[in-house]
Amino acid sequence: MTGMRHLLGITGLDRPAIECYLDDAAAFWEVLGRDIPKVPALRGRTVVTLFLEDSTRTRLSFETAARRLSADTMSFQARGSSVAKGESLLDTVRTIEALGVDALVVRHPAAGAPHRIAGWVDAAVVNGGDGRHEHPTQALLDCFTLRRHLGTGLDGCRIGIIGDVAHSRVARSGVRAFSALGAEVTLIAPPTLLPERVETWPARVTHDLDAELAELDVAYVLRVQRERDAARRLPPLHEYYARYGLTEARAARMKPHAVVMHPGPMIRGLEVATTVADGPRSLVRDQVRAGVAVRMAVLFRLLGSPAGGDDA
Ligand code: ASP
Repeated sequence: MTGMRHLLGITGLDRPAIECYLDDAAAFWEVLGRDIPKVPALRGRTVVTLFLEDSTRTRLSFETAARRLSADTMSFQARGSSVAKGESLLDTVRTIEALGVDALVVRHPAAGAPHRIAGWVDAAVVNGGDGRHEHPTQALLDCFTLRRHLGTGLDGCRIGIIGDVAHSRVARSGVRAFSALGAEVTLIAPPTLLPERVETWPARVTHDLDAELAELDVAYVLRVQRERDAARRLPPLHEYYARYGLTEARAARMKPHAVVMHPGPMIRGLEVATTVADGPRSLVRDQVRAGVAVRMAVLFRLLGSPAGGDDA
């Protein structure tokens, strides 16, 4: 893979580029299993997480990844910062850059914000989730988790992405990455929770989860994003669970080897039953673990590898 300065989305990454990240992540996965799970690869480098929207696992995961690579880390959150006093994004970013940073991991409620920031700074920019747009490291960690679980590639794997696709950056990035790796993706959602121009996505679309279940190798359940539902597209929640919730009875009808994934945070009893989320089919904890290895791979590729330096 040629060097890239930023990771802003799965868009623009082809199969070899995605596989490169996954192969590097496999090497870092091995590092994470050692007694001292740390390497000096990014010693002297500084990684800042600039999160202007809530997050638990993504921010902690990036910070852990940076520390496992021996980078210094700084954490910036909107609350308690000068953003709360009205400082513009440009001024905030320039201030942070003046402190001397090598990479900025950006989460922002507006689609495209990381792309704008990438145009302002010399540092590498990683998109940690922008509005409903993209969440590339989530897609990479999901591919990594599946590849490890299957022990093969994703070619021919049938993945159903279930629920609130319209508001989901996880779905946008996931569909692209899964299909680039050869998986057959089906979006399973009520008509009101499908995005505009869904026909341009590399995926089939259906509204009927029950008709699809027995075909799936992976049920990828999305969070219902009530906070983004300004247009009130969500059906009443009890109806949603009745038609799209991954209940125990539904999980029992899946193929014996089929697995369940969720990007978190999970709303148990609305998207997925607790017994399914914690049951033998669930890869949810594997996804979180994979996140650190994948983010190490991303930071290392952008900051540490000799190939770095081109523009993305
Ligand atoms: N944590 C994921 C994200 O930031 C999924 C979600 O919040 O529903 O997009």
